[in-house]
Amino acid sequence: MDAGALRRRNLSAVLDLVHRHGGVTRADLTRALGLNRSTIGDLVAVLVEHGWVDERDDAPRSGVGRPSPRVAPSDTRVVAAVNPELDVVDVALVSLGGQIVARRRVDLDHVPTVAETVTLTSHTVRELAADNPGVEVLAAGVAVPGLVRGRDGHVRLAPHLGWREEPLAAPLSVALGMPVAASNDAHLGCRAEQTFGAGVGTGTMLYLNGGPSGIGGGLVVDGRPMDGTAGYAGELGHLGLDPEGPACACGARGCLEALAPRDALVQAVGLEHPDDDALEAALVAAVADEVGGDAARAEVARQLRWLGIALRGAINLLNPERIVLGGHLAALWRCADESQRASLIADALPASAAEVTIEPAALGSQRLLIGAAELAWDGLIAAPIDAVQGAAVATA
Ligand SMILES: [Zn+2]
Repeated sequence: MDAGALRRRNLSAVLDLVHRHGGVTRADLTRALGLNRSTIGDLVAVLVEHGWVDERDDAPRSGVGRPSPRVAPSDTRVVAAVNPELDVVDVALVSLGGQIVARRRVDLDHVPTVAETVTLTSHTVRELAADNPGVEVLAAGVAVPGLVRGRDGHVRLAPHLGWREEPLAAPLSVALGMPVAASNDAHLGCRAEQTFGAGVGTGTMLYLNGGPSGIGGGLVVDGRPMDGTAGYAGELGHLGLDPEGPACACGARGCLEALAPRDALVQAVGLEHPDDDALEAALVAAVADEVGGDAARAEVARQLRWLGIALRGAINLLNPERIVLGGHLAALWRCADESQRASLIADALPASAAEVTIEPAALGSQRLLIGAAELAWDGLIAAPIDAVQGAAVATA
């Protein structure tokens, strides 16, 4: 590797660490990257000069010697994150470190088409940028409830949205005038939780995402995402549990997502268009209500039973260290009593389940947007200096 390539790789490695930890000291960087202090000082200076990081003298002082200033991510460089769903297009600006700077949920009374999603997104991103003067939107990522071809962001099938073989990243990139990537929503939720949430530091992790468009999943094996041959692994919502069960959007019967739909929980608490945080709060309150909570308690118990049957198969297959539940599945977990929680893994093989812990997603209703942003950050963090020089040329 020549000196220029090595330097670019090191700049990317420094920015990646600052991003993942939301800020680090120079001493942390020296330790983590095995580079000497003067090299780290030089790399940080380049990133400061190009606007990616600031140095702030607010690190906690400990030990002896000079305090190490904190290298913090710029809060003006942002990416746009988008999550189209059955009745909403959710749009956010996300800064380095996975922080949502601004967010707007555009409620709809119908299922959006791809063309409508592109128009609404580009309009909303411009509005959010105008409301936040000083931010610079560099790229965008889309979390799609369906199967997406990673290399070009082409939607193969999003059954609940009725999208089939539709280009998405390409037209949105034209509309926004910036690079756009798209991927499956549950894979991105998994990535967000692994990077910033309930899965940090885990080796083998299973993530289940419950949303208006059904249940998806993501897998992490030995600390790396396991996407399958073509990127479509982890579709745990279509584990077949009951051959006589209700018809599923995939065409089969008795899949987990047909047996444990978010909509049934929304109906049990009588809300309209709740986001995940609102649904969870209402469901927890309803289940705790001794007088009026019977319908909610019964639906929660019914869905937990099917979730336990699905997790039995998944645990026996993967022997995971952690299972993270997102969306309405996190709400189910929060509503469950101790015995219901224990029952989720009770029928798995004891050896396979011995070390597993189940946790609700730590990022709540932000997880899919933060995951979509990660996709947008990929290209920028891989080549931070090229990225801003490219942007400067594009706007010149
Ligand atoms: Zn199915």
